[in-house]
Amino acid sequence: MATKRTKEILALLDEHYTREYKCYLNHENPGQLLIATILSAQCTDARVNVVTKDLFQKYPSMEAFANADLNELEQDIKPTGFYHNKAKNILGCARKIMDTYHGEVPSRLEDLITLPGVGRKTANVIRGNIFHEPSIVVDTHVKRISRRLRLTKEEDPVKIEMDLMKVLPKDHWILYNIQIITFGRQICFARGPKCEECFLTKYCKERRK
Ligand code: SF4
Repeated sequence: MATKRTKEILALLDEHYTREYKCYLNHENPGQLLIATILSAQCTDARVNVVTKDLFQKYPSMEAFANADLNELEQDIKPTGFYHNKAKNILGCARKIMDTYHGEVPSRLEDLITLPGVGRKTANVIRGNIFHEPSIVVDTHVKRISRRLRLTKEEDPVKIEMDLMKVLPKDHWILYNIQIITFGRQICFARGPKCEECFLTKYCKERRK
């Protein structure tokens, strides 16, 4: 249940940032978002978008990814880093989606997390962006800033997700991630946050004097 304090934080986020659902990873269908999200681990969204521009032309369907040559796929995604694992997971995901889900990305969390390389974070990205199911994505910005705002004390992403599910109203679960990413990129950096420009100082335990 959202407290007065939490509601005030959300109202300020709503005041400063969009209430529109938007995704920072370019995609045209659920399969492309799934692959872009796998590629985004330890990589910036901007770099993933550069790589996927050519990648999605070369492999225009889930079937094309399922039939990809592993070594070639590794080279195609190399600029995103950790490319051995990512290529293996993309291939594994595509094959399982073709074999088990008739080529369609499943919508249920329980099914999504059975796909190779798909944890709760990726599953929640898909559920929120594609199926508009209330879900909280705990990425590096959400983790850092939720702790600074004392919405959680946890370090573990799954525990943070559970805490946020308790304190945020459901209609803000998807929005919170979108707004916090913008806040983290523009003001509340990991190192050297611009506290002098921050509109949430009152709620923060780490504001710089
Ligand atoms: S006061 Fe500084 S550290 Fe705290 S939320 Fe604002 S920018 Fe981040």
